[in-house]
Amino acid sequence: MHRSPAQRYRFETGVYRPPSEGGSDSLLVRLTRNCPWNHCTFCGMYKTETFQVRSVAEIKQDIDAMAALRDDMTALSPGAAVSREGLVALIGKHPQLNNHAGLAMFYHWLLSGGQTAFLQDANSLIMKTGQLVEVLAHLRRTFPSLARVTTYARAKTIVQKPLDDLKAIRAAGLDRLHVGLESGDDEVLQQVRKGASAEIHIQGGRKALAAGFQLSEYWMPGLGGKARWKQHARNTARVLNAIDPHYIRSRPLRPWPGTPLAGEAADGTFEILTPSEQLRELRLTMETLEVTGRVCFDHAGNYWKNRRGGHLFTHSYEGYRFPQEKQTVLDLIDEGLQVGKPGSVNREQ
Ligand code: SF4
Repeated sequence: MHRSPAQRYRFETGVYRPPSEGGSDSLLVRLTRNCPWNHCTFCGMYKTETFQVRSVAEIKQDIDAMAALRDDMTALSPGAAVSREGLVALIGKHPQLNNHAGLAMFYHWLLSGGQTAFLQDANSLIMKTGQLVEVLAHLRRTFPSLARVTTYARAKTIVQKPLDDLKAIRAAGLDRLHVGLESGDDEVLQQVRKGASAEIHIQGGRKALAAGFQLSEYWMPGLGGKARWKQHARNTARVLNAIDPHYIRSRPLRPWPGTPLAGEAADGTFEILTPSEQLRELRLTMETLEVTGRVCFDHAGNYWKNRRGGHLFTHSYEGYRFPQEKQTVLDLIDEGLQVGKPGSVNREQ
């Protein structure tokens, strides 16, 4: 059957992925659309959208469309690999590719070596295990250069999946899970409607590790507000200690306009911490943390400044190794707290 260029190269790309999967580093492959939970009061990512699981046939078609793009660009390139000349020649043949939403991402991913992929959107593990395994096998077969495939997952979904299913998904080529813990404090989790308790997060994290996944846990400094900052800090560290994931990533709260939490901040029912107060909370979290993974501040939201006006923490995706660099992090926090004091050169940003 003849397929027009628009059909041959068509694939869908979602909006969101973790920073560590950004830039040209990761191939974005969309397995589901939006978030199956979608109730968290701080989150504005998918609030106007409904959740859908895409069919295996549709996802495989996307992967095949990417492969066709790779093959056709390669055929038009002077050497054996995809080049700018190949891209320009293909667009010359099919000018409608100028409007392709995923072409730039795909081309840059190929140029960067085609090593990592991220499965979108918010909770790929909600797919039936057999379907997810089939998609992973097709992706790995089509792009053998892939060294790492990662995705977002909810702790509750991990708990609900049998361990053998998780192991089968891991064996099919899914390497890393990114899980939004946000807080280890049950009151905070209920307040923000996370839909998972501290215990669920511990069970889910441990089960992901038992299945062999690398695990990234994200938490939100400031999510307890002025009323609950201490319990938020202590219980978050307690839950992270119980899981001991490979990566712990800081995503400081910044109310997202239009979200319920932004409304609570506006009407005063939720009191936002100042940058210095967030740092003080962060110090308590770090003091209580007894883990052996990496603690990362790899997001622009980690805005605190050092005494020279630069970023207080490295924004590297590999962050600081604990426990070896715990004291370094504590010292940096103390420096940041000094910067916030009256009379210092860099006052609170
Ligand atoms: S589970 Fe994640 S994507 Fe879904 S509403 Fe909560 S924070 Fe947003």
